[in-house]
Amino acid sequence: MKIDLRSDTVTKPTPEMLEAIMNAEVGDDVYKEDPTVNALEEKVATMFGKDAALFFPSGSMANQAAIKLHTQPGEQLIADQYAHVYNYEGGGVSFNSGVSCKLINGHRGMITASQVESSINPPDFYHSPLTSLVCIENTTNKGGGACYNFEEIKKIKEVCVTHNLGYHLDGARLWNALVAKEETALEYGKMFDTISVCLSKGLGTPMGSVLLGDAKIMENAIRVRKVLGGGMRQIGYMAAAGIYALDHHINRLTEDHRRATEIGEMLQTLPFVTKVEPIDTNIVIFNIDGDETHFISEMEKQGVYFYSMGQGKLRFVTHLDYTAEKHSCFLELLSKYALKKAVQ
Ligand SMILES: *Cc1c(COP(=O)(O)O)cnc(C)c1O
Repeated sequence: MKIDLRSDTVTKPTPEMLEAIMNAEVGDDVYKEDPTVNALEEKVATMFGKDAALFFPSGSMANQAAIKLHTQPGEQLIADQYAHVYNYEGGGVSFNSGVSCKLINGHRGMITASQVESSINPPDFYHSPLTSLVCIENTTNKGGGACYNFEEIKKIKEVCVTHNLGYHLDGARLWNALVAKEETALEYGKMFDTISVCLSKGLGTPMGSVLLGDAKIMENAIRVRKVLGGGMRQIGYMAAAGIYALDHHINRLTEDHRRATEIGEMLQTLPFVTKVEPIDTNIVIFNIDGDETHFISEMEKQGVYFYSMGQGKLRFVTHLDYTAEKHSCFLELLSKYALKKAVQ
């Protein structure tokens, strides 16, 4: 049995999702004539209480479009040093928007309002770039699926309002945070100027993200998406997968979280595991004593796939296709290592 814990992006559509895809009514979305895309955008906008939403082919493109909408070339955004927009979007911040990043050394990918406040360049000091945007991530990717305390999100909002900064949420895994912390999309809609959410991670669709915001900032979003090459035609097939996932795959994320916690508990019992980071959602980050490449290849021989994050850190991500059966199989496999002092 293949157990793929590399990422929550490795899922394949369920038979029910495929049926929703096959039955979708479609049209040319570049002309805004695809009824299923229009329905998805309206559904997500309503969930968050925002005026407008736009379907994007990827989360990176949705974030990059948001950054473009909030900034002018030469300006600066503030983000955690682990931020996806900084580390994993191919340098798009500078390529697409001509913007630099002021990076904060946060906690598990999360930053505080006081860190944000002290990172703002004084607007009348023309020697430094003008700070115009704050980007935060919830849950954090490189931070190990950590969830923000909502009070901190509110405090950062106050800083943004005081200093007239845009406030963008990279919510690729926001669904995981909503379920884990029992929060609502509407509360998030009130906080941020723009939010990107992924349909292809925990929710298990083949592709797609949605960018949300109020009418004024979103006015130009469709043009920016076009410039980035993200205008799509009969993409209602993929929007149908998104609608299906929003209706059926959000609440079940608690299963992914429970399984991640159980994996973490098992890891704690293994003699060669030196540290397991706190598990808030579906990402398990841990360190081992000994040769990590050997451990990875040993597990691969048993059909288990996962990634190293470098510096001795390893990562498991649970998801829709990591079933109850695979979970018990994997826990049993790990338990066999409890007798080993180290992996050599
Ligand atoms: C996955 C991810 C994205 C978007 O990635 P794409 O692969 O471009 O869809 C954005 N932000 C975070 C935090 C992510 O984990």
